Amino acid sequence: MPNQLPPSERTRIRRLKELARYDEEVTHAILDEAKVCHVGFVDNDQPFVIPTAIARINSHVYIHGSRVSRMLKLLAQGHPACITVTLLDGIVVARSAFSSSMNYRSVVILGQAEKVSGQEKIKSLDAFTEHLIPGRTADVRPSRPKEIAATTVLRFSLSESSVKISEGPPVDEKADYESDVWAGVIPLQLVSDTPQPDPKLKKGIKLPRYLAHHRPAR
Ligand SMILES: Cc1cc2nc3c(=O)[nH]c(=O)nc-3n(C[C@H](O)[C@H](O)[C@H](O)COP(=O)(O)OP(=O)(O)OC[C@H]3O[C@@H](n4cnc5c(N)ncnc54)[C@H](O)[C@@H]3O)c2cc1C
Repeated sequence: MPNQLPPSERTRIRRLKELARYDEEVTHAILDEAKVCHVGFVDNDQPFVIPTAIARINSHVYIHGSRVSRMLKLLAQGHPACITVTLLDGIVVARSAFSSSMNYRSVVILGQAEKVSGQEKIKSLDAFTEHLIPGRTADVRPSRPKEIAATTVLRFSLSESSVKISEGPPVDEKADYESDVWAGVIPLQLVSDTPQPDPKLKKGIKLPRYLAHHRPAR
């Protein structure tokens, strides 16, 4: 039986509730595939939703950025936040425009930030690098104390979170199944392409092994 993250009144999915998932394993898998999240917060009665990088360690997600970032300063003061992650898996082409939709895996996290410091800060900064470029931290110089001091790292617990997963073929109105129009799913995925060397790269530096799996997209 997977570990459950039971919904609160605020994270209980109401519409299409059969698409809701509250198990930890599924939540972690979506967060680990996501390269970016969107962080929502209110400043002076105005909501803002800001895209930023995300990393997960155990049952927390981490965001980071400049010490002077408005978002990070407000969140570090305890402003409530809503973090969302969306993986777009397909366009669902139904027999009617009304029933057409998208296949996706999404996570919504509600909570307040905790400021991260000390060894956990170093570990979480490495987690951002490793999340995007596994193997990289062993290759580059350690961050300088000045760089670490210039960066704020915040973490959010996954304790109040929800997952919604939409998958499979279109669900059409019964009468529309007699229609002659094409219906189905257009799968979507994020793919990498061949790494392009920096024009200023010193001569003779080869592509590291941990990047070799990035190949031509087509
Ligand atoms: C790529 C994509 C496209 C979508 N397109 C549409 C669209 O065009 N129109 C539309 O109405 N809906 C769309 N949705 C679904 C949308 O995200 C909401 O789930 C939906 O609007 C439900 O609203 P509600 O008022 O019933 O729920 P709310 O009352 O807003 O939600 C209650 C709680 O459920 C949880 N929750 C709600 N939605 C999600 C979610 N997607 N993932 C994880 N937790 C969630 C949150 O914790 C929230 O606090 C889309 C979702 C994705 C990921």
